[in-house]
Amino acid sequence: MDEFDVVVIGGGHNGLVAACYLAQAGRRVCVLERLDELGGAAVSTYAFDGMDARLSRYSYLVSLLPQRIVEELGLRIRLLRRRYSSYTPVPGAASGAGLLIDNDDPQQTRSSFAAIGAEADAEAFARLSADLGRVAAALWPTLTEPLPTRGEARRMLGDDALWSAVFERPIGELIEQRLQNDLVRGVVATDALIGTFASVHDPGLRQNICFLYHVIGGGTGDWDVPVGGMGAVTGELVRAAREAGVEFRTGAEVVSLSPEGVVEYRMRAGAPSGSARPRAPRRVIGARVLANVAPAVLDRLLGAGGTPSTVGGPGARPEGAQVKVNLLLRRLPRLRDSSVAPEAAFGGTFHINESLTQLEEGVRTAERGELPQPLPAEIYCHSLTDPSILSPALQEQGAHTLTVFGLHTPHRLGVDAATLERAVLDSLNSVLAEPIEPLLLTDAHGRPCIETKTTADLDRTLGMPCGNIFHGPLAWPFVEDDAPRGTAAERWGVATEHPRILMCGSGSRRGGAVSGLGGHSAAMAVLEDDLDR
Ligand SMILES: Cc1cc2nc3c(=O)[nH]c(=O)nc-3n(C[C@H](O)[C@H](O)[C@H](O)COP(=O)(O)OP(=O)(O)OC[C@H]3O[C@@H](n4cnc5c(N)ncnc54)[C@H](O)[C@@H]3O)c2cc1C
Repeated sequence: MDEFDVVVIGGGHNGLVAACYLAQAGRRVCVLERLDELGGAAVSTYAFDGMDARLSRYSYLVSLLPQRIVEELGLRIRLLRRRYSSYTPVPGAASGAGLLIDNDDPQQTRSSFAAIGAEADAEAFARLSADLGRVAAALWPTLTEPLPTRGEARRMLGDDALWSAVFERPIGELIEQRLQNDLVRGVVATDALIGTFASVHDPGLRQNICFLYHVIGGGTGDWDVPVGGMGAVTGELVRAAREAGVEFRTGAEVVSLSPEGVVEYRMRAGAPSGSARPRAPRRVIGARVLANVAPAVLDRLLGAGGTPSTVGGPGARPEGAQVKVNLLLRRLPRLRDSSVAPEAAFGGTFHINESLTQLEEGVRTAERGELPQPLPAEIYCHSLTDPSILSPALQEQGAHTLTVFGLHTPHRLGVDAATLERAVLDSLNSVLAEPIEPLLLTDAHGRPCIETKTTADLDRTLGMPCGNIFHGPLAWPFVEDDAPRGTAAERWGVATEHPRILMCGSGSRRGGAVSGLGGHSAAMAVLEDDLDR
């Protein structure tokens, strides 16, 4: 049986970050990845046969990846700032008016607030953004350090009223107190709901945690475009890991794990349909095992290894509630709102049917077991900011990619991909001056260039339980004042009940999103623990 200092289960971007840090620090590291490709949900792909367009298949924007990690690992990653923060058409407005938030033109932004009858909110929105900027400035630097306690984090912010509004009261209260207009409220509320199925008034505050991670990235809350797509980020991590000597075993599905660090895996036979019979199991042992898989998956692996566990925590019910649709278009569609150029509207986050009323109604509808109509969704066009993902020929033609992220479609609804895709297109068409379907390019087989990824797809392909994009519920980036912090793993938020096994993915305390924070924390815990020995 091969022995390593560290075995990483899962080659998602967090597993790669951990592997890089530890190999660069001289540890012998092996990464076992179930798929043939590394990167997990941070990958790019030629999604449409014969089309030279490399799309970020799942995750698409970067906010939470600290420059510190990029520099320490020597990654050559370029992120581009988007000029337009967002565009939101007023739902159902015959005139097609909408709110355009232009980072470079505050005057134009104020006029846009006025044009949708939300003049009073222009100032309030700017004040709220400034307050959230203070939260970001206080907490962002802590993410690459051992966890602060709640009390320490509160003191760092130094504003008890703001602390209470963001960390102790449902975020819906802050939104409704500060902003009057339903559409403006919705624009802010979406930050609380991407990847989190909840009302903004949920007393459990899951939506507040999601909100926090959406507004603190980089100390500004900006969501930037990775040049070359998400695959370029993962590609750099793989390069750095290989150079540091990490051993990769891809197509290696871990099937069981023991608390002593014995990891059993099977090589998946290379047959494309996955129909080939699994091969005989192999084993490796790690002095430490880092779990880049979801807590629920880790539980299953430990159970198979004879040690049922509750790593995921009681009541941690992972469930995704989104659908992602990728499209390749001949050109951008025309908008109903003739006052805004499509290049501006699609240049930032384009919110569709996401007023606060629609978002709240969407939760209630889905909780009743029905699909919200119209579906709240948001769109982003990668190729406007970074054309490099398209071939020169497609660029010349005026082609563009669109990514649509539909909300409030919980896994439990069991809705099939075709129905979800239809709901997304109907929602999109409701704000366009022409239907989107005729604008779709066709692939080498004459099929329209559109692909839909449901929660079931994510579960099956990536092992995200019930399609939860963060592997499970997000957690605050601090611990309660009386939480144990005796071990390095506890101090870094990556502890499991087995000392040799650490979380190192989205399921670790600060792990959600493409941030590398789960991997960084796990690596720091291992290195700190080694120093203590
Ligand atoms: C549709 C979608 C859109 C998103 N958009 C964004 C976005 O724009 N910005 C952002 O910051 N975040 C976004 N996210 C969230 C983000 O992508 C994830 O939180 C992040 O990629 C998780 O990284 P990870 O390395 O922790 O885990 P993963 O990427 O889930 O990687 C885990 C790896 O473990 C492997 N694995 C699973 N089981 C086994 C096993 N038994 N044996 C071996 N290997 C196994 C999987 O194949 C996978 O490669 C999005 C996610 C999705 C799905």
